[in-house]
Amino acid sequence: MPSKQLLFGTGGIPRSTKGTSSISGIKRIRELGLDCMELEFVQGVRMGEKGAKNVLETAKEEEEVALSVHAPYYINLNSYDEEKLKASLERIYQASRIGSLCGAESIVLHAGFYQKSSKKHTFENVSKALKALTGQFREEGIPAILRPETMGKRTQFGTLEEVLALSAEIEGVMPCLDFCHLHAREGKENSYPEFTEVLSGVEESLGKEGLSNMHMHIAGVEYGINGEKKHLNLRESDFSYPELMRALKEFKARGLVILESPVLEQDALMLREIYTEL
Ligand SMILES: [Zn+2]
Repeated sequence: MPSKQLLFGTGGIPRSTKGTSSISGIKRIRELGLDCMELEFVQGVRMGEKGAKNVLETAKEEEEVALSVHAPYYINLNSYDEEKLKASLERIYQASRIGSLCGAESIVLHAGFYQKSSKKHTFENVSKALKALTGQFREEGIPAILRPETMGKRTQFGTLEEVLALSAEIEGVMPCLDFCHLHAREGKENSYPEFTEVLSGVEESLGKEGLSNMHMHIAGVEYGINGEKKHLNLRESDFSYPELMRALKEFKARGLVILESPVLEQDALMLREIYTEL
């Protein structure tokens, strides 16, 4: 469902949550006055159907918090090992099925690694896997959108071009723009003109819907010659987040902004304030 606004929230439950459950995290998001949260299934999908229904009730009916899902990290859609490929598909499928029951539409995933493959061949393998999954979702009525993420290490599949091409090619696939990864990969994408170029690229590839139904990850980042090293708090990083907020406002971007810096909710609140005051 395209959102009418730009919503700000955290990747995982806020640091200041009392307790560790998704439900207490959703309640804390509402107390903080934030609007969304990404459920982190990154170590595996450990929630069952019953748990998912409870999450749906809390998020949708009680607290009105929009949810998304981050699929498990252990995924490589470019694996030559049939078993590993099968396990990767199964992890994405489970994250999507349970995520949908939680009311989350967007399922973010790290698609894989080039390893010894060419970029072109990797793209074909990832594309084939995502086509199989989205086809299965349609058959089973699972209303999930798969969001391959722009990745921060140069060994990882997921440049902006790759992620946009997959999204343009496959129904049910949209990008997750991780701006800290885009920046870390080459040390670029850190100024107003570069941000507007990224957003124009989204519009060119996906049309207006690309901008009205966005999913973004934002954090500060430490990086080196091979790209991303670790996440930082925005204020301790070189990331030009006020410029990014300006570009998002200018392009009337809509959707979810998920903060992934160590202080999570503090940066989410700060960014939203900057954005609102523009
Ligand atoms: Zn991620």
